[in-house]
Amino acid sequence: MTTTLITGATRGLGLETARQLAGAGHTVYLGARDLKQGQEAAKPIGAHAIQLDVTDEESVQAAAKHVRAEAGTLDVLINNAGISGAWKLAGEYTAADMETVYATNVFGIVRVTHAFLPLLDTSSNPVIVNVSSTGGSLARNTDPTSMESKVPMLTYASSKSAVNMVTVQYAVAYPNMRINAVNPGLTATDFTKITSPGATPIDFNEYGIQSAEDAAKIIVRLATTGPDGPTAGFFEAAGPAPW
Ligand code: NAP
Repeated sequence: MTTTLITGATRGLGLETARQLAGAGHTVYLGARDLKQGQEAAKPIGAHAIQLDVTDEESVQAAAKHVRAEAGTLDVLINNAGISGAWKLAGEYTAADMETVYATNVFGIVRVTHAFLPLLDTSSNPVIVNVSSTGGSLARNTDPTSMESKVPMLTYASSKSAVNMVTVQYAVAYPNMRINAVNPGLTATDFTKITSPGATPIDFNEYGIQSAEDAAKIIVRLATTGPDGPTAGFFEAAGPAPW
């Protein structure tokens, strides 16, 4: 039996990943800031809701205690919770904007990973998947033909570059674990519902938005990797993604 925890799994990619992994036989802990919302999401897919706000140390510690007491181990940690923050031109972002996005996207991953590493260490095949984005790819951002280079998102993009480095640092430090970052690609979730017209200079639809069902497949693939699978990598559906 594989025990899996997914952060930010009340909706979008986290929920779809939970659905696919529960369907594949994993015991899935579905992380939710709001436990009631989590219970409503978890019930139809046979997952277990757990209160977990990645920005809240007490919440994360309580979640780790809960999983230890109930499951005794953790095999797969999927750090999925993420926010875009405001969409502005680079020069308009403040340090406070940066702190808000990093609090969830970067410090949240470190907080959750730090709390769950001792439990993961008890697994015979420990796996961590960090849900990143090629928005954080230096290579894509400096390629004028890429979609990523056309979207001004200083806070979000740099937070995902940081996620990639955090991934590599953990992977090097824990060679007994498979630790990778993934780019799910543009996906039709609340995340890409830009409500203010003109907030981004491009229409995401021009770049082919996928369903959450298709986009979650790369997360599931890395979450189900065996002990001989890759580590310290960055992957998207087509293969390795550029850093
Ligand atoms: P989404 O539909 O907006 O869902 C975000 C999830 O994160 C929600 O469950 C939300 O919970 C949760 N969350 C936000 N802040 C949290 C916190 N402090 N603690 C715990 N959970 C928190 O977004 P999505 O599209 O599924 O995105 C999931 C991940 O994929 C993100 O890391 C995102 O950067 C990445 N990604 C998305 C796309 C895309 O096109 N959609 C592309 C590349 C990468 P609540 O319900 O409580 O708000």
